[in-house]
Amino acid sequence: MYQSIESRVQAVQANIDLACSGINQSAESVKVIAVSKLQSTEIIQEAYDNGVRDFGENYAQELHQKVGSCPTDIIWHFIGPIQTNKLKLIAEAADWVHSIDRMKVASKLNQACEHLNKNMSVLIQVNIDNEPTKSGVKTEDVLTFAREINSHCSNLELRGLMFMPNINASDKDKLKTYANIQSLQSSLKEILPHCTELSLGTSGDYEEAIVAGSSMVRIGETLLGPRL
Ligand SMILES: *Cc1c(COP(=O)(O)O)cnc(C)c1O
Repeated sequence: MYQSIESRVQAVQANIDLACSGINQSAESVKVIAVSKLQSTEIIQEAYDNGVRDFGENYAQELHQKVGSCPTDIIWHFIGPIQTNKLKLIAEAADWVHSIDRMKVASKLNQACEHLNKNMSVLIQVNIDNEPTKSGVKTEDVLTFAREINSHCSNLELRGLMFMPNINASDKDKLKTYANIQSLQSSLKEILPHCTELSLGTSGDYEEAIVAGSSMVRIGETLLGPRL
């Protein structure tokens, strides 16, 4: 059944309001990022017309093209795996990068931002369930990596952590994962108090993610409809 973007945006916001009221938190404390990879600029425009300002993209080239043909006050989040030869494009086009997963990426992005005279907000992507098929820093390496970015990359502002937990895990395992995420996040905040952001939750789990403390949810198909 066809569902308009307007009704999708309203439904997602209603679910977010409900999840936030359940934990006595203001709904404004959760940023909705519409994941627009493989979606047309018309769809992006429609979401924009319904109040969405933050969009997430996975592919550098696609992001770069869309930035040129979409409203200029959109905040673009790069959330995909990073190839170092694409970092210039990403530095030019993105406002946030969620998927920093190794020092080489951080230093090259920092260099590219320096050339552009630009500061970039970044998150460290963590492979919290230690899944062999997923990218991300291992939990035990996160604090060292965070300190390293903080002291060596003056054009990057480290703002927190990004996670893609296994959404097919059992409820029991998910709760364990959320507890691990919270404990890692609070250890990070102890050494770097400005790292307050938690990018967690997609179409399949954004309500649970908010309850677990997410401040940025990355919602694709539930918000914008099926991808091409
Ligand atoms: C595609 C993608 C999403 C959105 O997925 P949906 O299931 O469409 O909500 C979120 N985060 C990342 C990193 C993605 O690649």
